[in-house]
Amino acid sequence: MSKSARRPQRVFSIVMWALSIVFAGFLIGLGSLIIRDLPKVDQTITVEHFIDQDAYNSAQIIEDRERVKVSALQRDLEDAEAAFAAAANDYRSAKASFDNWIATRNATQSNAQNPEVIARTRALETLKAHERTSLREVERIRAVQVTAERAYLDVVKSREDLYAAATPQYRAAMRAQELRVFVFRLALTLPLLLLGGWMLMKKRESAYWPLYRGFIIFALFAFFVELVPYLPSYGGYVRYGVGIILVVAAGHFIIRGMRKYIARKQIEEERSEVERRRSIGYETALKKIAAKTCSGCDRAIISKDDVPTDFCVHCGIRLQCQCVNCGTRNISFHKFCLSCGTPSAEQPMTEPVPG
Ligand SMILES: [Zn+2]
Ligand SMILES: [Zn+2]
Repeated sequence: MSKSARRPQRVFSIVMWALSIVFAGFLIGLGSLIIRDLPKVDQTITVEHFIDQDAYNSAQIIEDRERVKVSALQRDLEDAEAAFAAAANDYRSAKASFDNWIATRNATQSNAQNPEVIARTRALETLKAHERTSLREVERIRAVQVTAERAYLDVVKSREDLYAAATPQYRAAMRAQELRVFVFRLALTLPLLLLGGWMLMKKRESAYWPLYRGFIIFALFAFFVELVPYLPSYGGYVRYGVGIILVVAAGHFIIRGMRKYIARKQIEEERSEVERRRSIGYETALKKIAAKTCSGCDRAIISKDDVPTDFCVHCGIRLQCQCVNCGTRNISFHKFCLSCGTPSAEQPMTEPVPG
C-alpha cells in the first residue's frame, strides 16, 4: 500500500483482507464438516477379509494341536535322556567295580566256571541291556518328535499360503478403495477449484472481490489439503502426471499473461506522451513513482546526480514538471503544486476504483 493512498482506504484494504481470510476459514470449516458427515467411503480393509476362513480356521486348529504335541514330546525326550544318562552311569560304575574285583581275584585264583564270576557278569549284562533300552527309547521319541515337527511346519506353511493367496485380492481391493476415495474427493473439490479460477480471472474488479478472494483461498486449501494427499500413486505415475499437467497449465497462463502485457505496453508506447500519461490512474502512478518505477513502461527510473529526472529514458513519459505559477519542480502526476497550490496543467484524467 503506497503512502499516497487515502488513510481510510488503507484501513479498508487491511479489513478486507481480514474479511477474506475469516470467510475462507468458515468455508474451510464447513467443507470439512461436509466431508466428515457424508456416507463413509473409506472403511478399513485387511488381508483377513479375503482369506478362505474355513481352511484358515482348520489350519489354525491343527497348528495349535501340533504345537502342543511337539512341546509334550520335548518334555518326554528330556525325561528319556535323563533316564538314559542314569542307566549309562549305573553301568559304568558297576563295570568299574567289576574290573577291580576281577583284577584282585586274578591275582589269587583261576576264574574259569566260577559261579560268582558268572553271577556278577550277568548283573553287568542286565545293566548294559537296561542302558540300551533307555537309548532306544530316546531314539524312538526323537523320531516321533521329528515327525510332529514336520507336521507342524507343514501346517504353518499352509496357513502362510492361504495368506499369500489372499494378498492379490487384498491389494486390488485397496487400490479400488484408494481410487474411490480420490474420485469422491475430486468430485467435491474440482468444481470449487474451477469456480475459484473463474473468480480469479473475472471478478478482480468486482466490489465484492474480498469475498471472492476468500472463496479462492478456500478452493486452494480444499485442493491442496483435502485432495492432493489422496492422489492414488500407482507407483508415482498419477502424482508426477498431475504435477506435470499443473506446471504446464501454470506455464501456459503465465506465458500468455506476459505476452498480453508486453503487447499492451507496446501499443501504449505508440500513443502520444500526453495521452499515455492521462491514461494512467492517479493511485497507480503514485504507487509506481514511490517504488522508483516508471508508470508508463514499468522499468526502473534512471536518475543522475545534478540532472533533474524529468523524463523516463526508456519511454519518454514526463516524470516531473515545473509549476506554471512559481516554477517549483513537481511530480508530473500530482494534481496541485507542492509550493503554491496552483492546479497542475498536466494532471491525469482518470482515477481507479478504490480497493
Ligand atoms: Zn518509461
Ligand atoms: Zn507552484
